[in-house]
Amino acid sequence: MSTTPYNPFQTAQAQVDAATERLGLERSMRELLRWPMHEMQFRLPVRMDNGTVEVYQGYRVRYNHARGPTKGGLRWHPDETLDTVRALACWMTWKCAVLDLPLGGGKGGVTCTPASLSEGEKERLARAYIRAVGHQLSVDKDVPAPDVNTTPQIMAWMVDEYETLIGRHHAGVITGKPIPLGGSRGRSNSTSMGGLYIARAVENLLGHKLTGARCAIQGFGNVGGGLAELLHEAGAKVIAISAFDGAIYNEKGIDIPAALKHYARNRQEISGFDGGQKITNEELLTCRCDWLFPCALENVITEQNAPEIQAPVVIELANGPTSTAADRILHERSILVVPDILANAGGVTVSYFEQVQNTYNYYWSLEQVHTELARRMADAFDAVHREHERTSGPMRLAAYMLAVERVAEACRLRGWV
Ligand code: NAD
Repeated sequence: MSTTPYNPFQTAQAQVDAATERLGLERSMRELLRWPMHEMQFRLPVRMDNGTVEVYQGYRVRYNHARGPTKGGLRWHPDETLDTVRALACWMTWKCAVLDLPLGGGKGGVTCTPASLSEGEKERLARAYIRAVGHQLSVDKDVPAPDVNTTPQIMAWMVDEYETLIGRHHAGVITGKPIPLGGSRGRSNSTSMGGLYIARAVENLLGHKLTGARCAIQGFGNVGGGLAELLHEAGAKVIAISAFDGAIYNEKGIDIPAALKHYARNRQEISGFDGGQKITNEELLTCRCDWLFPCALENVITEQNAPEIQAPVVIELANGPTSTAADRILHERSILVVPDILANAGGVTVSYFEQVQNTYNYYWSLEQVHTELARRMADAFDAVHREHERTSGPMRLAAYMLAVERVAEACRLRGWV
């Protein structure tokens, strides 16, 4: 087993390299597309409740803006590094291109432990972040959004700081805001909803029925919990769920509303839930099921467990859950993997709708958001699937080829290469 620490940016670059090579792109284009175009690193001094000052490390990466303003969330996490932000900014670029959104890819982050911060400390950190990068943000340049450990309330503090600095309203500079401050209806569960539309597209295409099907979901947070609820309502049998503290399995189907209540009441832990038998996260990934939805972390399906995966369909709602080596194994085993840059694009798509609504200062109904999202996800799935059939490679490679070609075309038209 390799002892080299996992670096998601190396995985992201390997995915880009596979696509640029297969497309036969010229050397200069390959070089341009495998690195971010702009990177910022900065120190953020924040006054703590006890009067001392903590200094945090912040990042903002604009990976490629050939197709439009860069767009991408902000993660607050103890393991955040420049390379994790680069990887996520890279994936955002291809995600926006696969969905044919007129946006580039970006990402930001702060290395911190959010669970140890009070509400006041979080607000001061959010405002410090905007003071550090606000001059580089705007609806026509770079637009942040929530991601792991950042919330609509944090986006509200950030938009307030930004608008205070520039002295006017500019709600579209940040998406994922609360609805009273210009947020979009349907944003909060948009990634899960997009995942359901992708599952529906697979169902229509391959005849893998969702009704009564056994679904295993890793991660029970915003994405995994939301998806479990939607699948449960759609008549699927969610047989395994998990969080950081363990997993629960019930062959008859888990009572998802009860599990969601337990999770919310028990500091987002799942292990004490009595609606099934305790298993490990590793056992969840390899359990006998019809659909597997990784919705937690990067690099959980690896060379070690890929030979044991039993689901014929894997839908990646987490970013980067499958290693490059595991990808090859799953393809050889004829397991259909719908890649993250397609499957979890519902969030950025509704973020884009939010920007559009902010720009017009005219707001859509929930029904309109869902209709537009369903259409965009289905169109993107069809385009990737056509490329998948044409190339006979993994669906991930097909999605990358489609996205990379679109970004490369915009770079060429601009005369960059
Ligand atoms: P979250 O923090 O709300 O939830 C994460 C869940 O994963 C929690 O239930 C947590 O307990 C669980 N988890 C943590 N460590 C785990 C482990 N070792 N094993 C199993 N489960 C573990 O985050 P989220 O917003 O739901 O995001 C989940 C994934 O989806 C991330 O990869 C994120 O980048 C990706 N994603 C999120 C969005 C979005 O709109 N929130 C959009 C696109 C992609």
